Amino acid sequence: MGDVVEVAEQYYCYGLGTLTLRVIEVGRRERHSDGIWINLRGVELGRPAGPRQGRVLARLDAVRIRSASAPAAHVPIRPGWGCAACGQDWPCPDRRRRLLREYAENRAALGIYLSLHLVDAAADLRHAPADSLYSRFLGWLGQDQDGAGRPVSAVQSPSPASSSVSKRSRTSYVPRS
Ligand SMILES: [Zn+2]
Repeated sequence: MGDVVEVAEQYYCYGLGTLTLRVIEVGRRERHSDGIWINLRGVELGRPAGPRQGRVLARLDAVRIRSASAPAAHVPIRPGWGCAACGQDWPCPDRRRRLLREYAENRAALGIYLSLHLVDAAADLRHAPADSLYSRFLGWLGQDQDGAGRPVSAVQSPSPASSSVSKRSRTSYVPRS
């Protein structure tokens, strides 16, 4: 188990909107006039009030296992920071490609987005070396960045003279306690 499934509003009891559920337990099936329904226990995701564990009765043929290629699926699972969809270190290759596409017109915003996640990850992964976290979250952005003063520019300097500057700005994104 652990699959994340989605069920459209009209095919489960009861709730509003599409149900997103991380399945913990698959219960018994019930035959009804309109088909086979199945009891599911799991954690409802995507609720404004936060995840909630509960039971639902859903029509079996309307239960969709969320595709691993869905953009929303490649999200980090804290505190381990593995990808929810593919299990690789987040941001995984799939998510990186999507981020580059989504932020194609605004790489600066992408740097900020990743920096914020890096801060969170550093808080969760206290034993991970700062340099490896940095390259994992920001180092992959590559050499084609333009502009200055962004976090991503620190890793690109090829000259040894400025490497100490790079180090200082790196550590400033990985608060230690
Ligand atoms: Zn992934």
